[in-house]
Amino acid sequence: MYQFSRAIYRELAPYITESRPDARGTSSHKQVLDACEAALERLATDRHYFAKPARTLFYDIRTHFPMSAQKRVLQTVVHYIGLAQRFLAENPLAAHATFTDEPPTCRATTRKGSVCQRVPLPHNGYCPSHQHLADTEHNERLAAA
Ligand SMILES: [Zn+2]
Repeated sequence: MYQFSRAIYRELAPYITESRPDARGTSSHKQVLDACEAALERLATDRHYFAKPARTLFYDIRTHFPMSAQKRVLQTVVHYIGLAQRFLAENPLAAHATFTDEPPTCRATTRKGSVCQRVPLPHNGYCPSHQHLADTEHNERLAAA
C-alpha cells in the first residue's frame, strides 16, 4: 500500500511551494507525506467507513500547494487513490496486513455488544452470518439517495 502514498508524494513534491510548518514545526513536505500515508492506511484497514478517500486526502494536503497546482494535485490524488482501491478490491487481506498484524474482523456487533470476531467477506466487510446487515446498509443508501 505504501507504493501508492509514495507515488502521490513523489509526483507532487516538486509543487509543494509554501512552507507551512504546523505547530510542532513539521515541514510541509512531511505533512503531505504523512497525510498520504494516513489516507492509504485508513483505506486498507477501514475502507467501508471511508466514504470519499480522494476528496478527503485532497482537502488535507491542498493548503501546501499554490493555486496553480491545485488541479494537478486533485488529478494525482484521484488517480492513485483509484489505483489503490483497485488493488484493495483484489488484495484486501494483503493490504490490511501491511498496516496491522490483527486479522480483519466483521463490522457487525453481536447481540452481547462485542465486536463480531468472524472473518469478513472482502467486498462488504461483513462475515457470512451478518450479510443481511450489508443488505440493510445498501437499502438505506438507496433510500437516502
Ligand atoms: Zn459477523
